[in-house]
Amino acid sequence: MFFSLAPRSRRRLLWAALVLLVLSMLSTLVWLAGRYEVTQVQSQIERDAADAVSDIRTALTRNVQTLQALQYADHATVPWTQEASKMLREHREWLRLELRDIDLRVVSSVDTPFRAPPFNRLGRSATQPEVVQACTVARRQSGPGYGASAFVPQADGLGLEIMDLCLPVINDGVLTGYTVATYSLSEVLVNMVGPQLTRSQEVSFTESDGTRLAMHGTASRGTRVFIAKQLLDLPGHTMVLRMDSWHGAPDVFPNVLTALVMAMAIALVTVLVMLARDMRRRQRVELDLADALAFRKAMEDSLVTGLRARDSEGRITYVNPAFCEMVGFEAHELIGQGLPAPYWPPEMVDEYGQRQALRLAGNAPPREGAESVFMRKSGERFPVMIFEAPLINAMGEQTGWMGAVLDVSEQRRVEEVSRASQERLQATARLATVGEMASLLSHELNQPLAAISSYATGSMNLLKDAALQDPQLAETLSSAIQRIGQQAERAGRVIKSVHDFVRRRDQAREAVTPRALLDHVMPLVILQARKLGVRVVVNCPADLPAVLCDRTMVEQVLLNLTRNGMQAMADDTPNKVLTLAVRPAAAHASSRWLEFVVADLGHGIAQGVADQLFTPFFTTKQEGMGLGLSLCRTVVEQHGGLLRFEPNLPRGMVFSFTLPQS
Ligand code: ADP
Repeated sequence: MFFSLAPRSRRRLLWAALVLLVLSMLSTLVWLAGRYEVTQVQSQIERDAADAVSDIRTALTRNVQTLQALQYADHATVPWTQEASKMLREHREWLRLELRDIDLRVVSSVDTPFRAPPFNRLGRSATQPEVVQACTVARRQSGPGYGASAFVPQADGLGLEIMDLCLPVINDGVLTGYTVATYSLSEVLVNMVGPQLTRSQEVSFTESDGTRLAMHGTASRGTRVFIAKQLLDLPGHTMVLRMDSWHGAPDVFPNVLTALVMAMAIALVTVLVMLARDMRRRQRVELDLADALAFRKAMEDSLVTGLRARDSEGRITYVNPAFCEMVGFEAHELIGQGLPAPYWPPEMVDEYGQRQALRLAGNAPPREGAESVFMRKSGERFPVMIFEAPLINAMGEQTGWMGAVLDVSEQRRVEEVSRASQERLQATARLATVGEMASLLSHELNQPLAAISSYATGSMNLLKDAALQDPQLAETLSSAIQRIGQQAERAGRVIKSVHDFVRRRDQAREAVTPRALLDHVMPLVILQARKLGVRVVVNCPADLPAVLCDRTMVEQVLLNLTRNGMQAMADDTPNKVLTLAVRPAAAHASSRWLEFVVADLGHGIAQGVADQLFTPFFTTKQEGMGLGLSLCRTVVEQHGGLLRFEPNLPRGMVFSFTLPQS
């Protein structure tokens, strides 16, 4: 279902998931960091509580040793009370020291000098059970014993929480009494716990049920309380030491770790935002790119020129639709194909292979069109023109070749058609030449025929006289001569009709612009020019008026003159240029005539040749007929114009003729 979503909503969903994940990861990290901090604080306070218990235990042990020293002192020289007073001055945690006999009766006692005697109000007997308990333990263990804690009210309305330590006095292995030290629990906390522990924490003694007995330490309060409890088990009595630590309202950055995590989180979010921006920019660029690609594709698809790209090994990497249509293969049938390409005619594979190897070796001149023959999928061969150009990638390296392929079969067909039409024109020219000959013949034969006819008439007249002598012979001769006359007349009529046929072309005249005339012959002229390597220059102003002429015949004249000019430059002429020009005729300035000029840079005409130029059947060429120029002159003269020639200095000839404007 996810994949069926539109790309846009899918992207949004992905981004939302990413943001959600990052946020939840960050909050988890912050929470974990907070937790870690709590654990740190908790374990710190646990350690502190353990340290405090250890401090107290050590101090109590030391005190026991001090008391033992008191027991073993020689009381004969220094009285017990004096010694005890001295000790009480040194130990603020003790409230009172007592020396008791074996039945726990107080033999002597000294109170602390630092406060009012604690048992003044209720008397010592009120705490007797605790002393008994402590001394029982002491006796049993032959060592220090502690009694349960007890509350002793004081005169100032407050009270003291006390605890008794009982130490058996043993002389020579015999229990002789007890030394009882009364501890003030709050003083124990003040004096026996290291000040560094109580500076920022509250330390207290509690009963096992949680009742608070004594406390010491800072009273600062925060919202968060950390509590640690440690057992202080003494021989005969067990208490709980409780440590309370307050922390203010949790900071945004409670410690370095959290701060670090937060900083990383902010960095992550920033990177995420930047990434999102970058993504958006990329998307825009992608869109632009897709547009450009679509545009390029539309362009390639609309091209009629076939495009084909090949890599440096000659494998086809790209073909456009025009190319596929040209060769009749589908794109997938061509792409990836190496040499020989599927559209190479089998008979040309060797030649094309060599050409290809030459190109791949980098020896082919770029951008030069080469003519080739390709084969369609159907097997049909067709001529193409190929323009190859190196394919350069974004790094500027050549990765292969891009070829533009033009199907020139249509062009070849047109050329073929014009060649056929030229042949037809030449045939027409030959016909016209024959017409010219017929015209000449008719002119020449008319006289002899007329002579034959009049001789026949004369003979008939003479025969009339001779008929009188030999009517039989006269009859026979007369019919023969009559037949000669009839045949001569018939021949005359045939010749006249041929003459008329030739003359009838006069009616085929029409108004044609010189440019139209030139345009019509140009394809043939250019075809021949290409064959002979001649450059043709046309100079025909567009605003020239039309001429009245027999279009076919004038075209024939133009073709004849241009062909002669080009043939004259055929061999060793260095600069083969044929100029075709049309201009108003200078000789007919007043009347309206146009002059057509054909100038070449050929070998020119020798004097001997010039004299016979218009003689029918005179030619200097092997395959020439020698009728061209005489026909040209006839055609031009039939239009009332003039055909002239003169040398084109320094080299070549200029042939010109005039035609009337319409
Ligand atoms: P053909 O071309 O068949 O020989 P033409 O009557 O057209 O017949 O030409 C007769 C001769 O005139 C040519 O054989 C050639 O020697 C000469 N001639 C014609 N035009 C030129 C020219 N432009 N330059 C030199 N010689 C020419």
